[in-house]
Amino acid sequence: MKLVTFERDGLAHLGVLLGDDKLIDLQRADRSDAKLAASPAGMFESLLSLIDAGETGIKAVREMEALANAGRLKEAICDIATVKILAPIPRPRKNVFCVGRNYIEHVNEGYRARGTEIKLPEYPQFFTKPPTAVIAHGAAIPRHAGLTDKLDYEIELALIIGRGGTNIPQDKAFDHIFGYTILNDVTARDLQRRHDQWFKGKGLDGTCPIGPWVVLRDDIPDAQSLDVELRVNGEVRQSSNTRHMIFSIPRIISELSLGLTLEPGDIIATGTPSGVGYAMEPPNLLKTGDVVTCRIEGIGTLENHVV
Ligand code: MG
Repeated sequence: MKLVTFERDGLAHLGVLLGDDKLIDLQRADRSDAKLAASPAGMFESLLSLIDAGETGIKAVREMEALANAGRLKEAICDIATVKILAPIPRPRKNVFCVGRNYIEHVNEGYRARGTEIKLPEYPQFFTKPPTAVIAHGAAIPRHAGLTDKLDYEIELALIIGRGGTNIPQDKAFDHIFGYTILNDVTARDLQRRHDQWFKGKGLDGTCPIGPWVVLRDDIPDAQSLDVELRVNGEVRQSSNTRHMIFSIPRIISELSLGLTLEPGDIIATGTPSGVGYAMEPPNLLKTGDVVTCRIEGIGTLENHVV
C-alpha cells in the first residue's frame, strides 16, 4: 500500500494510492462511510497521526483500501493528476537521520576523487539534515548559486520509523519500520569540505526531496534487494541495488538506536551508491534546469528540477 500526503483546497490530506492514477482521500472517506466513522478521531489527518496510531491505523487503512476496491467510498476517490503531492511528512518532528558512505563503490569513488587511501568504515557514519531541507516530489531544488558551485545528488532508500525504541536489537529492527520511501540527499560538496563537518553542506533549504509516497513495510518483502537508479536529464548516473549496502538496514537501526531513542515518524536515509557528480571524470554537478529522477524498485519515482 502506498500512502500519499497531498494538498487539496489549500490543506494537507492523507491518501491511499488506488491503482496508478487514483487516490482515496482518507479525510473524505472518514466522513462518507458509516462503518469508518467509528475509527479513532484524527487518525487520518496526516501520515504522522497514522503512524502514531500504530497497528490500529495500518489495519484501518487496509480496510479502507479493500472497501474502495469493492466499489465503495466513491465520494472519497479522486484523480492523482488533480492534486499537488507533498512530502510524505512535510515537516518532520526532528532532523532526518542519514548514513554516509554505505555502498563500497561509493566509498571507493570518494577516495579516488580525493586521491586518498581506500579504507572501509567499521561503523556507520551518521549525520542529519534539518526539517527545513525537506521538499516534495515535483518541487524545485534551489541551486543556491553564489553559495555553492558544487551542488550534487545522492539517491537513497529512506526508512520511516513506526514503533519507537532504544537499543533495538538487529533481529527486531524491521518490527520498528513503518514503511519506505525515496530520498535525494542533495549536497553542496564545497561546503561539505569547507566546514569539515557535513551538516552545513547537507543542510541547505530544499536539499532533501522525499517521496513521492510511503510504501508500507510488509508490502516490500525484502528491502535489502531493491534496484536503485538516479538519472539527470534522462542520463543514468547511479545504478545499484540495496543489497550492496556496507551496513544493512538492521545494523543501521540497531547502531543508531544505541542509547538514542528512535521515535515514530523518524526518517533514516540509508546511504547512496556510486555515480555521484563530484566523483565523475570530469566532475558533473547539478546546474539550473537539470531534472533529477530517482527510482527505487517497488516504491516509485521521485523527480525534482533545479531552479
Ligand atoms: Mg547521502
